[in-house]
Amino acid sequence: MTTINATNVNWARASEAVAAAAPILLVTHLNPDGDAIGALVGLANALCERGKTVTAAVDGGVPEYLKFLPGTGQVQADLTEGQWALMISLDASDEERTGRAGAYGRAHSEMVINLDHHPTNTMFGDVHLVLPEAVSATEIVYHWLVALEHPLTVDVAQPLLTGLVTDTIGFRTSNVRPETLTVAQRLMEAGASLHEAVARTLESKPFSTINLWKYALQNLDLDGAIISATITKDDFKRANIPEPTDGGLVSELAKVEQAKIAVVFKETPQGRVELSMRCALGYDVGAVALALGGGGHKQAAGATIDGPLEVAKPRVIKLLREAIKRNELGTPETHG
Ligand code: 5GP
Ligand code: MN
Repeated sequence: MTTINATNVNWARASEAVAAAAPILLVTHLNPDGDAIGALVGLANALCERGKTVTAAVDGGVPEYLKFLPGTGQVQADLTEGQWALMISLDASDEERTGRAGAYGRAHSEMVINLDHHPTNTMFGDVHLVLPEAVSATEIVYHWLVALEHPLTVDVAQPLLTGLVTDTIGFRTSNVRPETLTVAQRLMEAGASLHEAVARTLESKPFSTINLWKYALQNLDLDGAIISATITKDDFKRANIPEPTDGGLVSELAKVEQAKIAVVFKETPQGRVELSMRCALGYDVGAVALALGGGGHKQAAGATIDGPLEVAKPRVIKLLREAIKRNELGTPETHG
């Protein structure tokens, strides 16, 4: 897990790199959420305001529900040409998570800044802005823009506030501090709408998501303190959902009183298995994700592992049972 030291956070070098660079490429993680897209377009809009030539890209483009954010119309879904002085990776804990856009960008950029808040970050950049205590990648972008004395516009503030809202599930996670609310206040003062951020993300789902849950819940299982659901390739097809995303199902399962750990198994079109995991305070699914080649936070993590489902599921459940045991044995852990 990442611990804070001078090599993790180098505001001065990052700012110098941005000042010197033209053009700049911004990328984020696959299956992007509100924080990924918020950081991507929030920073892209700010850099454009600073006169920079910016390309922003993520494989598959911006999910429909996040297209209300300013700047998302410029995001490339399939990056296959270009050359950059600098690439900035946002909210991605390892290189693989940045997908084809990240791989292409690295091969065609002179330098990489890795900006992220996952404690499992593999420190894959040349310059790092890796702050695990930040509640969202957008919070780090905010602090960077303050350091740059960049005046906040609504086009920057709305994406940044949206990342804060989605990664903290509306300021409800255990890592929210008084300072988090100060950042939110500053963003609202710059014109961002908290109501819109909440209404468009946490409080809105397409019918196809709930329809997908209908299939997923047919495999619902509670095994001790582990609650799980499985979504097969066929389920995604039947629900007409092209990407293997659970639409927030894992967070709903984590609310079940009897459960300490929730996991959703998602079969990808290629037959691999994507995991989304959540756990109660005192448990650590981040460590389990890391052991499986993925990453995340203690309370929310994920990984993509080899299929088929019949092999992947018992492998993961075994590790999760061990994670529960570790907690029962009272292994010292810091909460949060
Ligand atoms: P979610 O379950 O919402 O997709 O992801 C929860 C957390 O785990 C997020 O912080 C996300 O970035 C991380 N995560 C999810 N899937 C993967 C993965 O395949 N690899 C890595 N490194 N992190 C993941
Ligand atoms: Mn994030």
